[in-house]
Amino acid sequence: MTTNVPYGYKKNPDDPQKWIIDEEAARIVKKIFALCMEGKGPSQIAAQLEAEQILNPTAYKQREGRKTPHQTPENEYRWHESTVAYILEYMEYTGCTVNFKTYTNSIWDKKQRDNPMENRKVFYDTHPAIISLEVFDKVQEIRQQRHRRTATGKSNMFSGLVFCNDCKQKLYYSTTSYFEKRQDFFICSTHRANKDKCSGHYIRAVVLEKEVWKHIQKVISVVTRYEAYFRSEMEQKLRVQSEETMRIHKKRLAQAEKRIAELDRLFIRIYEDNVAGRLDDERFAMMSKNYTQEQKDLKAEVKSLQQEIDEQERQAENLEQFIQRVKKNSDLTELTPYALRELVKAVYVEAPDKSSGKRKQKIHICYDLIGYIPVDVLLKAEQA
Ligand SMILES: [Zn+2]
Repeated sequence: MTTNVPYGYKKNPDDPQKWIIDEEAARIVKKIFALCMEGKGPSQIAAQLEAEQILNPTAYKQREGRKTPHQTPENEYRWHESTVAYILEYMEYTGCTVNFKTYTNSIWDKKQRDNPMENRKVFYDTHPAIISLEVFDKVQEIRQQRHRRTATGKSNMFSGLVFCNDCKQKLYYSTTSYFEKRQDFFICSTHRANKDKCSGHYIRAVVLEKEVWKHIQKVISVVTRYEAYFRSEMEQKLRVQSEETMRIHKKRLAQAEKRIAELDRLFIRIYEDNVAGRLDDERFAMMSKNYTQEQKDLKAEVKSLQQEIDEQERQAENLEQFIQRVKKNSDLTELTPYALRELVKAVYVEAPDKSSGKRKQKIHICYDLIGYIPVDVLLKAEQA
């Protein structure tokens, strides 16, 4: 369907309908995704590519003697933020083809509109992948969090990943250009807006990093040394958890589906009442509006419940994937932003406990794909 082959691919000389990987450009695409995983935003990535004198896609295609709809750029190394953002969201890099990305409303309104993802058609494995689906999904997650950079322009690898254990809102990264890095801290965003609504949950960035890194090192140690043991213990833990969540989700799902059907019947009834003159038009309009809204909300809820149930059913797969990710990071000597994003989904920070006279503060690490890992229990049980 596309006549222009996207940056990162080239036409297969034996079959011009097919794309093959263009190694040189694909290396840049991979680099862009890796930089995003490290926590860099599109404008920072664009600036880095320019500094490294990497040809932008238009200049690159022209050098290769390929057709491009764009004019020769003034500066061949100038990367636009929007180009980088486009690449980061381009699902075709995972080896699939996405159709019906835009649609027009009617034959009179020719304006192209973005079609929501659920209305698009995706064909998998239509060409070789440059980016794994796993990395692609992670990058979309990171982009959605769009962690704000502070006024000083500094950002921290934990930005967007840390939450308040009480109000469950994000912890806000705070830094100034005067202090040294040791002084940077995270603070509950609810507290920041209104001091009465939640306590500070203040934690210094270096302390957070040290604690999380310590925990990750233990996880790496258990997984690499006692993989089979880790697998069976986590399988059991996930099964118990999952049975409970599945039970709740399925019950709620059944309720929602029942109510949707009931609303259909109610709607027919008020319609008949309206036609028969038992219900005036104004009331009918109001009631039908309410029913429609309720049904719409319920349908959205059913969809998300179904997704969560599907997710639970994939837990064995998720556990394997997590183990592979840990093993891939087994030689890590310090915590990198990339590894952090790969392994950790969220960190919850408790309010400090000063009852002993010392400031003690607990954090809970929710790992990607599998949630909490009782690593100290696992280590103790294995060593006993
Ligand atoms: Zn809070």
